[in-house]
Amino acid sequence: MPVLVMKFGGTSVATLDRIRRAAKRVGVEVAKGYDVIVIVSAMSGKTNELVGWVGETSPLYDAREYDAVVSSGENVTAGLMALTLQEMDVPARSWQGWQVPVRTTNAHSSARIEDIPPKNINTKFDEGMRVAVVAGFQGVSPEGRITTLGRGGSDTTAVAFAAAFGAERCDIYTDVDGVYTTDPRVSAKARRLDKIAFEEMLELASLGAKVLQTRSVELAMRYKVKLRVLSSFEEQSDTAGTLVCDEEEIMESNVVAGVAFSRDEAKMTLVSVADRPGIAASIFTALSDAGVNVDMIVQNIAEEGRTDMTWSCPTDQVARAQKAIEAAKADGTINYHEVIADTDVAKVSVVGIGMRSHTGVAAKMFQVLSAEGVNIKVITTSEIKISVLIDRKYMELAVQALHDAFELEKAA
Ligand code: ASP
Ligand code: MG
Repeated sequence: MPVLVMKFGGTSVATLDRIRRAAKRVGVEVAKGYDVIVIVSAMSGKTNELVGWVGETSPLYDAREYDAVVSSGENVTAGLMALTLQEMDVPARSWQGWQVPVRTTNAHSSARIEDIPPKNINTKFDEGMRVAVVAGFQGVSPEGRITTLGRGGSDTTAVAFAAAFGAERCDIYTDVDGVYTTDPRVSAKARRLDKIAFEEMLELASLGAKVLQTRSVELAMRYKVKLRVLSSFEEQSDTAGTLVCDEEEIMESNVVAGVAFSRDEAKMTLVSVADRPGIAASIFTALSDAGVNVDMIVQNIAEEGRTDMTWSCPTDQVARAQKAIEAAKADGTINYHEVIADTDVAKVSVVGIGMRSHTGVAAKMFQVLSAEGVNIKVITTSEIKISVLIDRKYMELAVQALHDAFELEKAA
């Protein structure tokens, strides 16, 4: 029988009543003839509570025990979902990660899935089970310890199961009804997209659109898993939500699919560093060793053997970055006049695969910002994305103006 993966996020299983509502949706798909793999998150708020308990008990916790505690929220919902389905006379049972098994690396708290052998679950499907309810977010390490996949990891569990079982589709039920051209809280004209290409979704997810864990989109793209994002609070239908799919499946795509933004960016500049081979390596090795997530990087033209180096990173990593840079100066690895941190910036990006074949998107973006009197501090581009750093106070204005200029209110 064809397999469907259905994933329910924390808000969709937040109460027994909502679990019942989700189980009914599963029942509809079972009645259509699908064998269903249901991936569940913990009830909303549960994982945060568990993370808090670990920190209170042991500030420098053992990551293996963190995973043992934090993975438990999903076990509860998996069992409750299986019970609810049984009450509806749907043959179902729950599976914890190790029982499947979901084999992962041993990078505790951010493990990667290596393999999901379908044999155990398929044997049960052959024996008449119709729904396998799997606890998301967790797996088992080569040492046999429980691992977790990083916050939001149930999305990745769902896509990995869809790939491993050759599922027809992977439906991600959440509290929003799809992927929007921008955050509707920032622009009232934001529109829900019927379809979006994997690559666009990947850019939007990594730029801060929090609908899907970035790694789940990477996996879906690699294994060509059709992903659908839809609300568990609306009428069930085959065309609801947003389909994340291969670009070939999108007949006519807009040049720009969406405007993304991220509020908590900081810009740091090393003023007057010696311009010599290896200088960028020294700076960014120091930052990476300190665990700083560098995003944009700009090196200025050198003058008299000195240059300025600018990068962006999350605001809450500025102190760490500063410390790493000062330590590298103290031990003579790098040498500069001054380090400047600007923590009042935001990043705004336009994303769209149409940029590959259309020129003028950057020019238009810069004209729009200039017409609004917004100064651009840093620019970076990729094949399908243009990002700018601007003063944070102009972020909403910039997003709205760009959304208007690229006519995203007409998007579908
Ligand atoms: N419960 C986990 C979290 O809150 C995993 C997930 O829901 O995706 O991060
Ligand atoms: Mg999530």
